[in-house]
Amino acid sequence: MELTRRRFSGMAAMGAAWGLAPGIGAQQPERSLRYCIVGLGRISMQHFMPATRLSKYGRVTALVSGHRDKAEKMAAEYGVPAKSIYSYEDYDAIAGNPEIDAVYIALPNSMHAEYTIRAAKAAKHVLCEKPMATSAADAQAMVDACRAARRKLMIAYRCQFEPINLRAVGLIRSGKLGKVEAISTGFGFNIAAGEWRLNRKLAGGGPLMDVGIYSLNACRYLTGEEPVGVQAYSSVIDQDGRFREVEENLSWSMKFPSGAVASCNTTYGANLTGFFRVFGSRGVIHVENAFGYDGQHLTAAVEGEPPINEASTERDPAHFPRLADHLAECVFDDKEPKCAGEEGLRDMQLMGAIYKSCQTA
Ligand code: NAD
Repeated sequence: MELTRRRFSGMAAMGAAWGLAPGIGAQQPERSLRYCIVGLGRISMQHFMPATRLSKYGRVTALVSGHRDKAEKMAAEYGVPAKSIYSYEDYDAIAGNPEIDAVYIALPNSMHAEYTIRAAKAAKHVLCEKPMATSAADAQAMVDACRAARRKLMIAYRCQFEPINLRAVGLIRSGKLGKVEAISTGFGFNIAAGEWRLNRKLAGGGPLMDVGIYSLNACRYLTGEEPVGVQAYSSVIDQDGRFREVEENLSWSMKFPSGAVASCNTTYGANLTGFFRVFGSRGVIHVENAFGYDGQHLTAAVEGEPPINEASTERDPAHFPRLADHLAECVFDDKEPKCAGEEGLRDMQLMGAIYKSCQTA
């Protein structure tokens, strides 16, 4: 954390309005969380890094990349000094950089554990992309390493910060829907050949690890319960070489302690826009595009109430700044993140159980 003056111009204007000379009395020190971006791919360059500019506390102060030219281009855009550009080989040197408070890990899934553990050893906080790891054992090691280093570990479950998803949770918790009886949800897309997501070693699995995890996590935050049983099937239809190492389709069901049941689908073979439907004893909620970067749309029919029809007014990267700020606030106030490492670990354990069930189905 540092005390910055990044809101200087706005505050200077305020100062001028109070008759203060610019820079005198107008500079209120402000806290920030300075992120080192690990992996310059789609999610980091197109979503998270721009989001830091919209966030209250997030700043990009260092980069880790295997491509120096790309890193230099991004460094110029974000004002990162050359001394704060690292390769994967000299990553551990971030320990000696006081301009880094936290790392944002946006690497292929199987690399999350190693780069989180190395960050913890370098005494940095961690915001790690989903899925947290490729096994529950790795996820547990990440939790342990961050705990031992007394550093925060947060998993980037952005939908837990998205207003329409939160509205659905609110409707359920208010009791208006009655008892949750069943949930139906899905998320998938038709994947292009050549993606690292099709390589088991890097991805750890297929669409379940990548996008099915949104449905899994949603079932948990919608019910507020932990599944007590899972059953699953996986399949490959397209014999075009894409699915030699990972599943193409996966369908699973879950049972919760209350008796609520969930039915979930994920695929790499079809464009399945993320959605969920929650069937309660007194009403139904339907959210379309539930897990997209924007465009969420909620309709609900609840007994005795006028129909609800609400669409997100946010535009990408609207819920990413909240991720950057939430970790910052947790660091400032020494609080546990809403989606700490244990939350990611629970999903890893459940995905392990889902894959295990596929083997016996
Ligand atoms: P990407 O392929 O666009 O970027 C991956 C980055 O890792 C690249 O900079 C690449 O150079 C680097 N890399 C380092 N070693 C590599 C290797 N051996 N093979 C391939 N790439 C290597 O991927 P992405 O879509 O940005 O996904 C990165 C992570 O972010 C994944 O874990 C993914 O699940 C997650 N993600 C999260 C969201 C979200 O909405 N929260 C969305 C997309 C991706």
